[in-house]
Amino acid sequence: MPRVAFIGLGRMGHGMAGRYIAAGFDVSLWNRSKAKAEDLIARGARWATSPADAAVDADAIVTMVADDEASRNVWLGEHGAATAAKPGTLAIECSTVSYAHALELSRELRGRGLIYIDSPVTGLPDAAASGKLTLLVGAEPADLERARPFLAPLAGTTRHFGAVGTGTVFKLINNLMGAVQIASLAEGIAMAEKAGLDMAIVAESLATGAVASPQVIRHSRRMIARDFAGASFTAALRHKDAAYAVALAESLLAAPPVMGRAAVAAYDLAKAAGPDDDEGKMIEIVARPKGPH
Ligand code: NAP
Repeated sequence: MPRVAFIGLGRMGHGMAGRYIAAGFDVSLWNRSKAKAEDLIARGARWATSPADAAVDADAIVTMVADDEASRNVWLGEHGAATAAKPGTLAIECSTVSYAHALELSRELRGRGLIYIDSPVTGLPDAAASGKLTLLVGAEPADLERARPFLAPLAGTTRHFGAVGTGTVFKLINNLMGAVQIASLAEGIAMAEKAGLDMAIVAESLATGAVASPQVIRHSRRMIARDFAGASFTAALRHKDAAYAVALAESLLAAPPVMGRAAVAAYDLAKAAGPDDDEGKMIEIVARPKGPH
């Protein structure tokens, strides 16, 4: 069976690694904290002592970690996967990283003979665990064809945007637009509450009106009910994505990314209040009582 090294077993990675086990791949695993791997080991995966150990003899290495720093550690660190992977191994970065990091990592890994594709994802942890993620791929076409058997267990849909890095560009655009929507939704809901509107009618109007994106529909219900059960995407991760996206916007656009910067400012507050809270909890900041100044 094809051999996959899977690195990063957080909310998303745990379910993704499970997909390879279910599909019968020969899976080696590494995560910074081993506890998250135990049930996957019980299902037949091999625990590796480092990313390098996981990568030995792998046909593909798939990573799903928090950010640039984590990605650099697991690929290029002292015991990083790149130190042990054989030339020709597929290197598939699924984490949401910055565009600059995606390009730098690609250069490093290609320099060591690996085949790099960026494949950040959209979809929540339940989609990760059920193989229904949308993969946002940047890759040479021939490399994507080689990677397809290793992407199939993860994907409901695969979108190929162009050369290496373009999957990350789209992911950052997508998540910055999401950040803007959620931050402005929190302000809208807080205004409606303070002004004494019937919030059931507000919820229905938001969910069926012209601004009813899937993002607005999902978060308006959760914000109005103050129900953040099953936190799936944290304030810290959304803040990271928005900040990476703004840096990219600043490098591409002549005009300042005013909306993006405003979303980063909103998520500065949400991250300071609770980095591991559900991102929608920013309603609690926006809707706090108006005290004396
Ligand atoms: P998470 O639950 O916070 O997991 C983060 C993972 O990164 C864990 O495995 C963590 O290890 C590891 N990690 C963090 N810092 C590290 C470091 N310095 N060195 C090595 N490993 C490190 O996050 P997640 O929700 O699974 O998200 C993972 C990636 O997917 C992120 O890039 C996120 O933006 C993206 N994403 C998330 C969602 C979502 O709905 N959650 C959707 C699409 C994309 P430990 O377990 O030891 O902490």
